[in-house]
Amino acid sequence: MGGRFLSIGECMVELSQADDGHLRKGFAGDTFNTAWYAHACLPADWSIDYFTALGDDAMSDEMIAFMGGGGIGTASIRRLRGKTPGLYMINLKDGERSFSYWRDSSAARQLAADGDVLRAAIEVSDVLYFSGITLAILPREDAFTLLAELRRAKAVGKLVAFDPNLRPRLWSSLDAMHTMISEGAGAATLVMPSFDDEAIHFGDDSIATTIRRYRQYGANMVVVKNGPDGATIGDGTDETLVPAVKVAKVIDTTSAGDSFNGAFLAHYLQHRDAVAAAGFAAKIAAKVIQEYGALVAPEKLKSIR
Ligand code: ADP
Repeated sequence: MGGRFLSIGECMVELSQADDGHLRKGFAGDTFNTAWYAHACLPADWSIDYFTALGDDAMSDEMIAFMGGGGIGTASIRRLRGKTPGLYMINLKDGERSFSYWRDSSAARQLAADGDVLRAAIEVSDVLYFSGITLAILPREDAFTLLAELRRAKAVGKLVAFDPNLRPRLWSSLDAMHTMISEGAGAATLVMPSFDDEAIHFGDDSIATTIRRYRQYGANMVVVKNGPDGATIGDGTDETLVPAVKVAKVIDTTSAGDSFNGAFLAHYLQHRDAVAAAGFAAKIAAKVIQEYGALVAPEKLKSIR
């Protein structure tokens, strides 16, 4: 039996280097990437929608067309007069990637400004997904509007998944980040952090500490990703390590965590078996890091079971 999956956040225009000094344009963003992989891995009786705000310019039109072309629903996206999408550029120097962002005044910052539209989109959905980046880009009171709606969804038994995706540069202070990330986890049933980030920014000395902390904030289940060392599932009773898939040559780790999350959710929603879901997600993430770019075509993932 299918359902409705809603991912909430910011998708940006991506510029990357092409030949002869040209720039290649794409579209990506953590919560959008996860929606992309959930769509790639869920059967056709599931609908996957993206919730954000965009402008009324040609680039916003193009992004919406791209999403729709990729099978992601866009009906609840608000269009704001005079606004534009955020943009980032991937710079490559001597094989090292660095990023420049232009997102301070992006339309997505107003995605939760209309509480009625937000509530309507969440009420018709069965599964909600958001991240620490979603919370970081919002004015504080809008972040609380979003969290209140997600807590309502959690209270009626919906699956609410949250990736803390810690990005200190997006927050006004580390205190603000810690407070809002704990609020985000409290509104979620499932939290999907990356251990590297948690160790650096929360000082966690072990995966068990990360699991305990997010459960204390109110999450039921925690899936801690740890790169090539696999993922650990903690549900308050057991902690189960699910190994990563060995990859001989990593090409581009962009979207490793996002694809893991999308694939995990797709599998879990169908079978309700977190260990099997993490095994499947490890296979999808392993494939994704052997390809360039954030979004790998669904056809390339089809044979993975
Ligand atoms: P994030 O991208 O959020 O930092 P991780 O680096 O922990 O997340 O990666 C997410 C998942 O991607 C891991 O749980 C693992 O399954 C897979 N993965 C990441 N790096 C590798 C790697 N070098 N080899 C194999 N799998 C990997």
